[in-house]
Formats: sequence, C-alpha cells, structure tokens
Amino acid sequence: MSQHSKRADNFIKDEARTDWHDKALWHVREKRDASAEKLPEWELLRATASQVKDNVLSNLDNYLVQFEAEAKKNGVIVHWAEDAADHNNIIGEILKKHNARKIVKSKSMLTEECKLNDFLEEKDIEIIDTDLGERIIQLRKEPPSHVVLPAIHIKKEEVGELFHQKLGTEKGNSDPTYLTKAARTHLRNKFFEADAAITGVNFGIAETGGVVICTNEGNADMGCHSAPVQIHCMGIEKLLPNAEHLGVFIRLLARSATGQPSTIYTSHYQKPRPGTEMHVVIVDNGRSTHLGKEDFRNSLKCIRCGACMNTCPIYRRSGGHSYHSTIPGPIGAILSPNKNLKEYSDLPFASTLCGSCSDVCPVKINIHEQLYKWRQEIYRNNELLKSKTIPLKITTKVFENPSVYNSLGKFARGSLRNLPNFMIYNGWNAWGKQRDLPEAPKEGFKEWYKKNRDE
Ligand code: SF4
Repeated sequence: MSQHSKRADNFIKDEARTDWHDKALWHVREKRDASAEKLPEWELLRATASQVKDNVLSNLDNYLVQFEAEAKKNGVIVHWAEDAADHNNIIGEILKKHNARKIVKSKSMLTEECKLNDFLEEKDIEIIDTDLGERIIQLRKEPPSHVVLPAIHIKKEEVGELFHQKLGTEKGNSDPTYLTKAARTHLRNKFFEADAAITGVNFGIAETGGVVICTNEGNADMGCHSAPVQIHCMGIEKLLPNAEHLGVFIRLLARSATGQPSTIYTSHYQKPRPGTEMHVVIVDNGRSTHLGKEDFRNSLKCIRCGACMNTCPIYRRSGGHSYHSTIPGPIGAILSPNKNLKEYSDLPFASTLCGSCSDVCPVKINIHEQLYKWRQEIYRNNELLKSKTIPLKITTKVFENPSVYNSLGKFARGSLRNLPNFMIYNGWNAWGKQRDLPEAPKEGFKEWYKKNRDE
C-alpha cells in the first residue's frame, strides 16, 4: 500500500465523516458552478488568466527585478530566499532586530511549506494563526487539509470540545456562532499584543511593487494595521505584470474557491505606514528548478483556489491529510513530485484521471495530463511500488498472448459465476471491499462476435 492509500484507508474508516466531507466539498463545487454560470465571459476570463500567467512564467526574471525595484521605491524592504531555511532565517532576523516575541499570521501556504511556525516556536516566539480554520488546526497541532478550507475535515462538535479545552468555552456548546465569537475575542487580544504581522501573498504586482492579499475574515488587515512590522511572504510565481490584470484574477479566484463574487477583503499593500516597516520575502524553494521542466512548469500558474480539490472524487473521499504534502489534492499531486520524486511518487496515482480538476481550474492547468505524465516519469525512474510493477508485468504478458488472455477470461467468468462468495470477497480482492463485482457474462466478446458477425 502507498502512503496515500494507507492514510485514505484510515480516513474512510469513519464512514459518516467521509460522507459529509464528500458532500460539503461537492456543495462548494456546486456554488462555484452557479457563480461561474452567471458570467457569460467566464471561459474568456480563464483563457486570459492562463495567458497572463504564461507571460509571467516566460519573463519571470524581468518581472521579479521590476517588482523589487518598484517595491524599494515605495520604501519596502525586499529579501530574497533561496529555500525554506533561508526564508525562516530572514524572518527570524527581522523579528530579532525588532525584539518581536508575539507574532500574528494570516493564512499562508508558503509559510506552511517552509515550516515557519516550528522554526519560530523553537526560538520561543509565539506565533498565532489568525484565520479561524487555521487557528483550529493550530490548536490541534495539525497541518491544513485544504488550501482554502484548512479545517474542513473537522466536525463542529470537535471544535466545540477543542475550544472548551483551549479557550475555556462552555462544555458541550458547538454552536458555530458562539464558537466564532469566542475565537474572535481570543484573537482580538492577540492582534493588540502583536509585535509583528506575517501574511502570505495572493498576487504581487510587478508594475507597482505592491502585494494583494485576499481574505474573508479581514485578519491579514487586523495584523498589518496594528503591528509595527509587517512581513509578506511571496513565492516567485505569484507575480502579475500590471494592476489591471487583477480585474481578471480577482473575478476568478473567489468564484472558483467558494462561489463568492469576490473575497470579503481584497487588500492592497504598497508602502509602510509612517513609523513602521514593511518587508516582502520573495521565495524560490525549488520553484526555478520546477520552472525548467517543460512538461510540468505550468502547474506554477496555480492561484490556490482549491477548486480542483472540491471537485476531485479521490480528494473528497480520502481527505487532505492522506496526501502527506503541504498542498493536497490534484494540484498537490503534481507539485509535490517536483520537490521529491521518491517521497511523493504515490500521489500522481491518487486520481481517476477523470479530468474534472482541469475542467474547473481557473488558470487552465492541464492537471490530469500532468498526473499521467508524472506516472510515466515515476516508472522511468524506477520509483513505482512493487505492488504496481508486478501486476503490470503480469498483465503485459497476458495481453501479449491472445490464447492466455482468452483462457484466463473464460476461467475468470466461470469462477465469478460458480465460486462461493467467501472465495471472491476476501482480503486479496481490494475492489470487492466496498462494492459488488459485476455479474459475469456467459461468454466473452470474442465468442459473441464469432457467433453474430454474419447477422
Ligand atoms: S490547480 Fe487550478 S483549480 Fe487547483 S488550486 Fe490551483 S488554480 Fe485552483
């Protein structure tokens, strides 16, 4: 069993959780569809976004230099981080310089990727995730299971119990409004005490040197508006050439993510407030190597809307943690092997290749084609699990030999019809664990064709 299938096996043991996880995400997918259908120009927006990102990826060096120059003109301090360690050390140094011990952070998959929280906690620096879903999983000491809905795998009763233990709410009260109010009070105090605020970046604008952050809770703004130091962590691929391109991406992002016309807050940060510091940390961490891979580079177009997760039948029924990588779901399955082929060689197989992910992707990434290409790469690099290579080799031999194929077909049909159930449905038959095998026909297609071809 691969890591993904083992973890998925664990997730689906709780059938009720699996069912509502599946339904909840499908509901988000339906909201996305309804929202997209209201815009006659939806496909044009997707095509434009894809082309803008093509341009960005082909001219990334120039746009990055332009972004840095413009940001510096605005008084922003720009840093370059080659990898996760660099990113964490840069932030550590900024915080040290300001003697900052209490930090608030709004949702950022990049800081998850770099394991910033662990790094700062080791230095006894308090770092509080301020997005409600992120705070829930932080209190549970878990990674997010979705890029937009990080706590989608957790029931409200579990949140009620967690908040009772950690925040002192009433025992047994899992009313979402009550719990949200409790979280708001708890977080408000953290904002007031914060020495620095850290955020991710949805879009960096090369033309202006500004960054754009989209949230529904306004938590990025609460942090940046109250702390004397603001730090924005941005992957190199997040750039857009001009501010006018936001008109395309902002319309696509929230609709694809949750079906909203736009996020509640779309905040533009361009320069520090008087008396404060604004930093942007630009991070590579393997992205430029990824950019050099012709077949896989366009996965760097991703704007982290999560739509491919919400639609994926495997993600919905296996949960985000089964992907054991920072970014789960279909996009995670094509991004992660770029970082470590051996560790993530199971992920491109966690897919039916139905193509639904590519159909919903707002920047038209050919996700299912890349999943298929990764499978070939994994085979070529001898990273395929034995549980796959042995059956594939046997199947090749059978398919190469028509008489063996015909005899085995006859044998299998006879066995399915005549063997008792306990011999068919047992530990060796993974397919039969959750479903009945199809009824075996009396004859194979070849036999049927021989009899009927003259009619
Ligand atoms: S790959 Fe496409 S659909 Fe998936 S998160 Fe990225 S932008 Fe959204």
